[in-house]
Amino acid sequence: MKEKVWLSSPHLGTEESKFVQEAFDTNWVSPVGPHLEAFETALSSYNDIGYCAALSSGTAAIHLALILLGVERGDEVICSSFTFSGSCNPIMYQHATPVFVDSEAETWNMDPALLREAIVDRIAKGKKPKAIIIVHLYGMPAKIDQLMAIAREFEIPVIEDAAEALGSHFQGKKLGTFGDLGIFSFNGNKIITTSGGGALVSENREWIQKAKFLATQARDPAPHYEHSHVGYNYRLSNISAGIGRGQMMVLNERIRQRRSVFVRYLNAFAAIEGITFNHEPAGGFSNRWLTTILVNADLLEGTTREEIRLVLEKENIESRPLWKPMHLQPVFNGAPSYTSGVSEILFRDGLCLPSGSNMSEATQERVIALVGERVTSVKNAG
Ligand SMILES: *Cc1c(COP(=O)(O)O)cnc(C)c1O
Repeated sequence: MKEKVWLSSPHLGTEESKFVQEAFDTNWVSPVGPHLEAFETALSSYNDIGYCAALSSGTAAIHLALILLGVERGDEVICSSFTFSGSCNPIMYQHATPVFVDSEAETWNMDPALLREAIVDRIAKGKKPKAIIIVHLYGMPAKIDQLMAIAREFEIPVIEDAAEALGSHFQGKKLGTFGDLGIFSFNGNKIITTSGGGALVSENREWIQKAKFLATQARDPAPHYEHSHVGYNYRLSNISAGIGRGQMMVLNERIRQRRSVFVRYLNAFAAIEGITFNHEPAGGFSNRWLTTILVNADLLEGTTREEIRLVLEKENIESRPLWKPMHLQPVFNGAPSYTSGVSEILFRDGLCLPSGSNMSEATQERVIALVGERVTSVKNAG
């Protein structure tokens, strides 16, 4: 069996194990300790935002964001349809209703025109959406200026899901800092990892304080355990935060590496009609967490995305279809949705290619050759 090539695997630097060892040596191994604050400070200063809470996952961060915005049973929350289920599952935790909005074709993120249509229609039907969750998928900035302008016009708060987009920016401002609240994920396959973890960021100090309170079981000040709120066990551990501190030191290097991976794929496939990429919006900069392609079978004598995926799988190379839109997921059956067909085409034709910052150039050349062979052999046979 050939050596496994992963879509995106953890890539540690040299400092992580030192920070973890320090946590052991000082016995700060629980969800309290100096690494937590230092990691939060590193995240706030990197993103140039006031306040940050380090949490157990990106999903937990979205859940707390919805609670802070007062989302409750019966409320409606707008969310990008083209995303990972972690973006919208927390809407269900609050017994609220997700309202899905489709993508535009340039960045593959939420379509501003459809967002406006959705808001106007929900208001006409009698319910103003309580919040909007805007996702920056695969690290690619959404048209965040236009989306924010619409949200502000209707005075609906925004949660920015930048789980995949740490380090990406738009007009020089980091993604995750445009909304009223922003979230990041440090799951194992993201651009940096804490083994598992997430963060909630905001300029609103009270919200972040409250998030930390809720994330540690909502203990009121008292010598015994006194509770006046329902709490959660959502805090990051000091050990994980130690890993995060080390990862923050190599983040810019990881972004540079991921973007190099993207450029090599782009150059290799530029001449192949029928393979296309998503694009940074004007003023946008993507961390290129994953390189994604669209395979147009009509221009490739019938070669489909799935055939390319299987060719790679046979060689022990992991690739993956793009996210299946939430409005097509059985679990969200019946949720209101505002669609244009864009995300359905992305799901049908799209493929994520191995994009790890620790993938060697030789390995990437092997992936490129296999895709190229599959495409040209079909052309020659045809
Ligand atoms: C990974 C991810 C999440 C959830 O983050 P976890 O840390 O895995 O809970 C949410 N949204 C998107 C777009 C993601 O990719």
